[in-house]
Amino acid sequence: MTAPFAATQPEGLAAAAPIEKRPLERYVAPAKPSLVGLSRVVLADMLGAVGVPERQRRMRVQQIWHWLYGRGAQTFDDMTTLSKELRAELAQRFTLARPGIVAEQVSLDGTRKWLIRLPGEIESRPHEVECVYIPETDRGTLCVSSQVGCTLNCSFCHTGTQRLVRNLTPGEIVGQVVLARDRLGDWAAPTLRSSASGEGTKGGGGGNADKRLISNVVMMGMGEPLYNFEAVRDGLNVVADGDGLSISKRRITLSTSGVVPNMVRAGEEIGVMLAVSLHAVTDELRNELVPLNRKYPLRDLLAACRNYPGLSNARRITFEYVMLKGVNDSLADARALVRLIKGIPAKINLIPFNPWPGSKYECSEWEQIGKFSAIVFNAGYASPVRTPRGRDILAACGQLKSATEKLSARERLALRAMALTD
Ligand code: SAH
Ligand code: SF4
Repeated sequence: MTAPFAATQPEGLAAAAPIEKRPLERYVAPAKPSLVGLSRVVLADMLGAVGVPERQRRMRVQQIWHWLYGRGAQTFDDMTTLSKELRAELAQRFTLARPGIVAEQVSLDGTRKWLIRLPGEIESRPHEVECVYIPETDRGTLCVSSQVGCTLNCSFCHTGTQRLVRNLTPGEIVGQVVLARDRLGDWAAPTLRSSASGEGTKGGGGGNADKRLISNVVMMGMGEPLYNFEAVRDGLNVVADGDGLSISKRRITLSTSGVVPNMVRAGEEIGVMLAVSLHAVTDELRNELVPLNRKYPLRDLLAACRNYPGLSNARRITFEYVMLKGVNDSLADARALVRLIKGIPAKINLIPFNPWPGSKYECSEWEQIGKFSAIVFNAGYASPVRTPRGRDILAACGQLKSATEKLSARERLALRAMALTD
């Protein structure tokens, strides 16, 4: 993997804003760690540490996963298929804690946004992220965060104005799904077989995704998931596992602003659906909107898309394109977009720009979005216009930003100076 925080400044661009921010903090595990979200291997090691003999560990992991992800157990006492002694031992050393909820907001359209507190504190402000549930007629989508803040500085994104505090752990990524299931009452009812044996039935973790409130997961919350690769990979593998949360990989979408070296890895090691935040059809404009383009320009990004493992008409890449009035929304842009992605099995999500306090852009006119969409559609690509959801509670794409992490202009300048001199 290319070190994400190395060489932030291509030659000749010394005066430009930094492309990537460095994390200000590292995760410090609490004295009593939570078992939520650990891979089977790590959980087995934890069990080994409390004296569970090696030959039993696989079965115990299976039982604990069943209680955690099949039934939503919140205490070790709920895990009735484990002996009382083991439950007591586990409770002494570990917890089943989910990330804490600081606030829950419900939009007029039913979208819910949770402000989530994670272990850690910076300048006496807690580490926080946001997580959003979007109910639709045929699905319910949970938008999950991968970082406190974001590595990058896209000029139209609220999260981009935030400092990068730290990466989330796999447990904190899985924890958002577990917590949302708790809040929505979205756990499967016990079945005779599972309550009698304690064994997770195949797919028992999430049950039939169609019948669940949370049927889909998108890594489109705060942060750039491919700059927190290992944690996102390990967390999503628990979310997708048939004995874990059992949300199939076809129903999980990872959105990246274009971290080219990690795109192939994402296909090979995670295997979920890929969304790419394109937003512009020339390097000149994309350099401004998505500064990471200065490091990985369009040519490299599109080559990585063409090489995405498993790409086919049934597994298309979604190109996201935010509609910014007078910036990237001309009909010439639409035609150039079609030429640019020629040959890539794709659909294009047109996202009306969601404004946030202090943003310098406006959303394109609806009529213009319609004409843009028609050009893309007539070229043979699905081009849905994403209805903004939860705008009244700042839950829509790019509006997420935990209140505690707002930066004053002076702080931002200081940070920029710091990053440039690092
Ligand atoms: N960091 C990743 C995923 C999180 S952002 C990425 O950039 O892809 C999820 C999507 O919301 C991205 O396509 C992003 O470009 C888009 N977005 C960001 N700010 C937005 C805004 N203000 N209005 C509409 N979409 C926005
Ligand atoms: Fe980060 Fe994505 Fe926002 Fe860009 S659009 S700043 S990569 S969250």
